Amino acid sequence: MMQVDEAVHATLRERLKEIFGYSQFRGEQEIIIYSILAGRNTFVIMPTGAGKSLCYQLPAIVSNGTAVVISPLIALMKNQVDQLNAFGINAQFLNSTLSKAEMNKVKKDTLNGTLKLLYIAPESLTKEENLDFLKKANISFVAIDEAHCISEWGHDFRPEYRKIRGIVDNIGNLPVIALTATATPKVQQDIQKNLQMEDANLYKTSFNRKNLYYEIKPKVDAKKQLIKYVKHNKGKSGIIYCLSRKTVEEIAELLSVNDVKALPYHAGLDPQTRMNNQDAFLNEDVDVICATIAFGMGIDKPDVRFVIHYDAPKSLEGYYQETGRAGRDGMEGNCLMFYSYDDIVKLEKFNKDKPVTERDNAKHLLAEMVSYANLGVCRRRQLLGYFGEFLDKDCGFCDNCLKPTEKLKVQHEVVLALQTVLQTDQRFDVAHLADVLTATTNQYVTSYEHDRLAVYGKGLEFSEDCNYWCSLIKQITIYGYLEKDVDNYGILKLTQRGMNYIEDPYPITLAKDHDYEQQAVDSKEEEDKDSSPSSGGVAYDEELLGLLKALRKKIAKEKNLPPMLSSRRHPWKKWRQPTPPRAKKWRR
Ligand code: ADP
Ligand code: ZN
Repeated sequence: MMQVDEAVHATLRERLKEIFGYSQFRGEQEIIIYSILAGRNTFVIMPTGAGKSLCYQLPAIVSNGTAVVISPLIALMKNQVDQLNAFGINAQFLNSTLSKAEMNKVKKDTLNGTLKLLYIAPESLTKEENLDFLKKANISFVAIDEAHCISEWGHDFRPEYRKIRGIVDNIGNLPVIALTATATPKVQQDIQKNLQMEDANLYKTSFNRKNLYYEIKPKVDAKKQLIKYVKHNKGKSGIIYCLSRKTVEEIAELLSVNDVKALPYHAGLDPQTRMNNQDAFLNEDVDVICATIAFGMGIDKPDVRFVIHYDAPKSLEGYYQETGRAGRDGMEGNCLMFYSYDDIVKLEKFNKDKPVTERDNAKHLLAEMVSYANLGVCRRRQLLGYFGEFLDKDCGFCDNCLKPTEKLKVQHEVVLALQTVLQTDQRFDVAHLADVLTATTNQYVTSYEHDRLAVYGKGLEFSEDCNYWCSLIKQITIYGYLEKDVDNYGILKLTQRGMNYIEDPYPITLAKDHDYEQQAVDSKEEEDKDSSPSSGGVAYDEELLGLLKALRKKIAKEKNLPPMLSSRRHPWKKWRQPTPPRAKKWRR
């Protein structure tokens, strides 16, 4: 723990209460704030909703000079600026939409030190004239929000983000706080390398969302399944993600004709309609929003009860972020994905036109997605493992835990797989390992002379199927016998646990992969049984809840407030077009 000055401690608490209205810091907020105030580079990885913004807003307020906040989206900047202004804090953003006069005000306030937070997109930061004035200003520190945008290995890569280090150096010798809600170990390393902050204080909290139920169903008769599911969850708020604008429209229409209150949301709608539809969802005038992934950033509706992926997502990062919008209030949150390999093929086709590295990365991300769908391993263990968090038990609350695929006991097979990793010098990926085990000769196997290894073809005794071996190797990776090399995508290495296992093996239980085609046939047979449980042991009277919600909506309408968030102290946070605390009108 860092040396903490009592006076600083008291000041921070005071300002936390006075400005933000909170009596306590949440999680590691306070220690993170000390870290940046102490001038240390700081790296924060916390799930959405954990309270990252406060980690740079508060230190910016108590520091001399102006903090520069780099953020990827104007809408996100605007939200924060409006909110801070409503709290009486001088925060402004700098971008090309500003008039000359507005621009001058920003510069003046920065130079005379009255501006506490200056929000800027990396694209504006690189502009010569902006750089020049920042060099003259007294900058307290630099915050980089949505820092995963730096990494080519992430899902929201923004090339300009990679130039941030050079620009910051140009402005001065400044401490940097980088924050993100999604980072695999690889992305984390990439961000730190690129920002040259490998020495940063790292704060990473668990990503486990215990109340979310993860489930994948075969995409067969998906429309029928969807209607049934939504009807079964009548009156609850839900988001349905689709890949294309066309599907969004189609599904919204389909639900409407089936008496579900639903609206579409995608970037192709005119801005007014899009805003109206978003408001209708937030105000609970409709229950369901059908959307492309354009929907959701910065939206804070705590009682979304289900998130459905009608089409397979492009990456687990995206999937986790989107499903993360369910059950933010800690109550029921069902995450259902319809999966079919056809969708993967479609996504692969989209990738074809991308530049080579981008295409390769996209392919890896997609392969992880496919693996997640197919494996019979606890979904939560897979997801958290993907983000570098190791769970040593099954969660008991996902489809693979509650409706397991067939199990198989293995031991010799595992030893063999681990030996293959060792004998190939821990430098290969799962596909190559499976090829060696099954004596599948190809140019790589022969050029590395892996056909001369003792393990070559030894797997045939157990299974000739490459997929069997791939699945086994992936599963023992999730269980901690192997680990992914952070520097080289897909390469597997032995962990200590793996080493010990070779010395002293024991039987372990793995799960067969899903056969979604077969499952589709099976599920047709038991059509009417609905198996999705109603979340983490939360029990309530549905009729009563319906009455209470109707009442809440009525009162909210009278007061011109959004129906949810009423228990939060600052409900306007992240609300589109926030209004100052005492203003009467909520909506235009
Ligand atoms: P993130 O950026 O991590 O997604 P936000 O910064 O938007 O999260 O914060 C999420 C919510 O938590 C906001 O409504 C915010 O006002 C609230 N919050 C942040 N810090 C605290 C705190 N110390 N106590 C109570 N609520 C907090
Ligand atoms: Zn599970």
